[in-house]
Amino acid sequence: MTNPIAIAIHGGAGTILKSMLTPELEAEYTEALKQSINAGYQILKQGGSSLDAVEASVVSLENCYLFNAGRGAVFNSIGKHEMDASIMEGKYLKAGAVSSVQNIKNPVKLARAVMDQSEHVFLTAAGAMQFAKERNIELAPDDYFFVQHRYDQWQSVKDTDHYNLDHVAEPSDKKFGTVGAVALDCFGNMAAATSTGGMTNKKYGRVGDSPIIGAGTYANNTTCAISCTGHGELFIRSVVAYDISCLMEYKGLSLKQACDSVVYDKLVKIEGEGGLIALDAKGNIELPFNSEGMYRACVNTTGEIFVAIYK
Ligand code: ASP
Repeated sequence: MTNPIAIAIHGGAGTILKSMLTPELEAEYTEALKQSINAGYQILKQGGSSLDAVEASVVSLENCYLFNAGRGAVFNSIGKHEMDASIMEGKYLKAGAVSSVQNIKNPVKLARAVMDQSEHVFLTAAGAMQFAKERNIELAPDDYFFVQHRYDQWQSVKDTDHYNLDHVAEPSDKKFGTVGAVALDCFGNMAAATSTGGMTNKKYGRVGDSPIIGAGTYANNTTCAISCTGHGELFIRSVVAYDISCLMEYKGLSLKQACDSVVYDKLVKIEGEGGLIALDAKGNIELPFNSEGMYRACVNTTGEIFVAIYK
């Protein structure tokens, strides 16, 4: 019998209601999720690594204007796109992360380069961008990142103290749009990656949970691989991704029990809205969220594909 392979992705969680999406837009999101999950799954199927698979799935979402990462990254309070990303593998616990980077076409590739080509785990802002140039990471001009609906989102909260998660109906509502992937390859190795533009109108230098190993991203072959999306401040305070791993490691909880405890109990108690994708060493997949919806897809160990948006 061959070893199980599995993969899951997300394109953000938040106030995503059926009434908010036209059938055309819903079809576009669904297609983009399918493309992303397939990009990663094909790599796993051909015997590739979980690291390559999560990177490929995240790149596919970063290249799509619909999601708040890469091309579709939100505007911050001064009209810039400052992006955060991270990647981690579960065998040696190697990780790479970048925060507050601009004009990087695929921040997840930069995070991977930090992991593979530096002695560091986390580079930020100007230093991370310098590293990108030295490693020939692809750059993109400001107008590549200009997406009209993101600009409109920013205009609605600009010059206020509101900062928004991505998928919001009104400035006061909550919506998140980060992207992420988790995968298990045929060698039994797990990996996780997350990439985001953060939150619309966020303040200069604000960093969310996505690039923080243990908060928004975590992978450990003995427990699980996790990628989060939600209100970053609360996810950082709850150390969400590592908490799930710890509940499995120290308390012996199953992946589902650990995810349920964190997403539906601990986070809810501090009003931490959002969700995550999770995978364990057997290829079990959990896609919990405590918001109205979460763009999500997975392929399980029997090769079945699942794509969903709403609750
Ligand atoms: N977690 C991300 C952040 O706070 C936002 C999101 O998931 O949409 O930066």
